[in-house]
Amino acid sequence: MTTVDLPLLPLGRGIDRGSERGVECPGDLPAASDPSLVARALAAKQALGERVFVLGHHYQRDEVIQFADVTGDSFKLARDAAARPDAEFIVFCGVHFMAESADILTGPEQQVILPDLAAGCSMADMARLPQVEAAWRALGEAGVQDLVVPVTYMNSSADIKAFCGRNGGVVCTSSNAEVALEWAFAQHGPDTKVIFFPDQHLGRNTAVLQMGYSLDDCVLWNPHLPGGGLTADQLRAAKVILWKGHCSVHGRFTPEVVDELRATIPGVQVLVHPECRHDVVLKADLVGSTEFIIKTIEAAPAGSSWAIGTELNLVQRLAKAHPDKQITFLDKDVCYCSTMNRIDLPHLVWALESLVDGAVVNRIEVDPETERDALVALTRMLDLPGKSHKD
Ligand code: SF4
Repeated sequence: MTTVDLPLLPLGRGIDRGSERGVECPGDLPAASDPSLVARALAAKQALGERVFVLGHHYQRDEVIQFADVTGDSFKLARDAAARPDAEFIVFCGVHFMAESADILTGPEQQVILPDLAAGCSMADMARLPQVEAAWRALGEAGVQDLVVPVTYMNSSADIKAFCGRNGGVVCTSSNAEVALEWAFAQHGPDTKVIFFPDQHLGRNTAVLQMGYSLDDCVLWNPHLPGGGLTADQLRAAKVILWKGHCSVHGRFTPEVVDELRATIPGVQVLVHPECRHDVVLKADLVGSTEFIIKTIEAAPAGSSWAIGTELNLVQRLAKAHPDKQITFLDKDVCYCSTMNRIDLPHLVWALESLVDGAVVNRIEVDPETERDALVALTRMLDLPGKSHKD
């Protein structure tokens, strides 16, 4: 077994098209201090009219979100894009894997644009295709590959989704991970195993807290260790093989801060995303996707107190929209998603004005073979029965 070298590539420098990490932003960006940026964005959107559809992920900055035609999580936005076949240009204010999914789910004539190519996702970057293929070979050497169903979180690159499509697997979101895992475990009878990419926490929280597997049923595959750091016997005994990846934002929340907030805010309810660590989720009152978090706060009674463990832009927006509720961020430090925040108003203005001038910049285009196989795994997800109660 060999490990794959991953030389560090600072964001925005050099080219690494095989990864979520970006490339340099070409062209002249307007200065962030330009006081006419809002007016320029409005004018460019107006000039493009129905030809452009702007998607804004919940974790985007306010300065960008104000220009979104729809907001949502990554899966909702990809579906929203697919529902607008007349839009020539889809400007995706989010990160690279989301723009890839939108490209896969939209028509071939539609062009998906990511205003800053350096807007990648550190979690998606933690599972690279050569690493995943090495793990798959190890499962073969352990004699269990035929029993393993690969499941990948939406937050993964298109080639990992395609790998799952080629190998009988499925994509899931934080809303439907339980349903997707139930489907996966039904594929090869009682001996079925699942390998879950790239977020160990979503995989563990779903398998243990929602499906009743024990922590001992789960093993952790470390792509940087020979054989994933596991023996063939451990692979044979496991039910769930978790990929050692995590979200650099949600991975920051700790059980100690939950305890501190409970001690200082009487009656506070702790609401976290399932990408949080297992020991944090265990201490929370409610766990669910960003859409679930938003709906929960919208439905909460006036005067209620909440500590929310998800990206700070969203928590701040919720606090602003619900001044009748006490909303606290579940971390002492500022905790934005740095790659999401690469999409700022200058990049959005530059992308829109380029379109007005007839130039498509920063197009995200998944190659046809990858698109075909990724679509198999995405379609399996779309065909799953029902949805989780935490949608
Ligand atoms: S919040 Fe986490 S999972 Fe989402 S884009 Fe940022 S690093 Fe990736």
